[in-house]
Amino acid sequence: MPEQLISINPANGKEVARVAVTTIDELNAAVDRAWQAFYTSGWREMLPHKRARVLYLIADAIEKEKDSLARLQMQDNGKPLGECRGMVDSAIGTFRYYAGVCETLESSVTPSRSDYLSFTVLEPFGVVAAITPWNSPIMNDATKVAPALAAGNAVLLKPSEDSPLLAPELARIAREAGLPEHLLQVVQGRGADIGAALVAHPGVRMVSFTGGTVSGRAIGRAAGEKLIPAALELGGKSPHIVFADADRDPAVAAVVAGIFGSAGQSCVAGSRLFIEAAIYDDVLNQVVERARTIKLGMPDEAGVEMGPLASFHHRDRVMAFVDRARTEGGRILCGGAVPSESAFDKGAFYLPTVIDGLDFESATCQEEAFGPVLVALPFKDEADLIRQANGTAFGLACGIWTESFKRAWRMGRALEAGSVWINTYKQSVTSTPFGGFKNSGVGREKGIDGLKLYAQVKSMYVGLHDQPMAIAK
Ligand code: NAD
Repeated sequence: MPEQLISINPANGKEVARVAVTTIDELNAAVDRAWQAFYTSGWREMLPHKRARVLYLIADAIEKEKDSLARLQMQDNGKPLGECRGMVDSAIGTFRYYAGVCETLESSVTPSRSDYLSFTVLEPFGVVAAITPWNSPIMNDATKVAPALAAGNAVLLKPSEDSPLLAPELARIAREAGLPEHLLQVVQGRGADIGAALVAHPGVRMVSFTGGTVSGRAIGRAAGEKLIPAALELGGKSPHIVFADADRDPAVAAVVAGIFGSAGQSCVAGSRLFIEAAIYDDVLNQVVERARTIKLGMPDEAGVEMGPLASFHHRDRVMAFVDRARTEGGRILCGGAVPSESAFDKGAFYLPTVIDGLDFESATCQEEAFGPVLVALPFKDEADLIRQANGTAFGLACGIWTESFKRAWRMGRALEAGSVWINTYKQSVTSTPFGGFKNSGVGREKGIDGLKLYAQVKSMYVGLHDQPMAIAK
């Protein structure tokens, strides 16, 4: 009997489905098939507007199955149904966007310095690996697969062992929509085993990874050893900042949505709340009051604001994180426990939690919980804020609430983050580059350059000389 991954619905603990773990022999065969498809399917030679047509068809086909995909995603990782629908919409939009980029992307004619014409073309790498986490499977899968295919590659997609169900659906839909056979294949299994084997495989020429910083570092090391490029989208501990002059109610609403949306299982979760000292108690009280009223519930319940965490073992990790915050001297202002109502007994639920009283250098304020856990910190002035907010290894995102345009500009430039939101939070669109500073990542996904991640520049020269070339000038 081959080893299997079991998808458990974290809302009720019931088994949803099983998938077979890919063996090393199967991985080798998949890489061979991918190269064969790359060379023989005609995909990479296909004129861009025709390749784009297939990507549009994939988007249409995902749209037709939107509801069932959203429900499967909900069962696989417990996110509220509305959020899961949003993720499927995002995947559809991503395929359409990269179809558009595919047929409109231009390369350049470079300034010639002699009697030749010089220009660039973009070439695919061949076979690329796309490795994704469990928090937003179909959305993250599309963010990698659509531009990689648009660039002419074959893709081996490895979803997380904790959310294995959406990737095979995406591959099936793409094939049925007209993508040549074996251009998108799925590899299943644990990161340290089959994931590492995929990255190390000599037939894989580029790797695109989204996940935690520890895994990202291992993948970056393995890619470096092979001298292949690695795009790494990693974790965060993003500061969400409220100045005294902020428009208070929208700021509080965004702070709460920024951390408790997706039960905090978002790389850009605003997990460190910085409040200007003069308004610290008032804002913190408002945040805690709102956190206490968040509607926890089953992911398909109407009006539910927070579902369970994605798995029972992840819930245990979040519990341990909060327990450590207690030992560090943190004050638990709300949450800090599993809900007491019996309706939640069978699921991986955890209450929205707000902690304060810790130094910004404490482990609680430095490490990613990837759960519904917010730490609050006061700051005296801009210099104190920058010292604390930048005092972390991460640099993925930040939010700034102030009515002063000049301050927003100053802080936005000074904070070390790949995305800065001013008087808003967690906006992310496929047309705008996304990625991290420092330990939050290497490279930028999304946007037009998101396609170029999966392509290599080739420079071409066409001679225009009338005289034979001289050996020495
Ligand atoms: P993870 O790093 O444990 O796993 C992510 C994926 O990588 C999984 O498919 C896993 O099987 C695989 N993997 C793990 N180790 C590997 C290795 N050595 N070689 C090859 N593959 C390996 O992350 P997770 O727990 O699934 O997801 C949570 C993390 O992802 C958080 O840190 C979160 O911040 C991050 N994340 C980042 C972004 C972003 O865009 N920056 C988006 C979502 C999630």
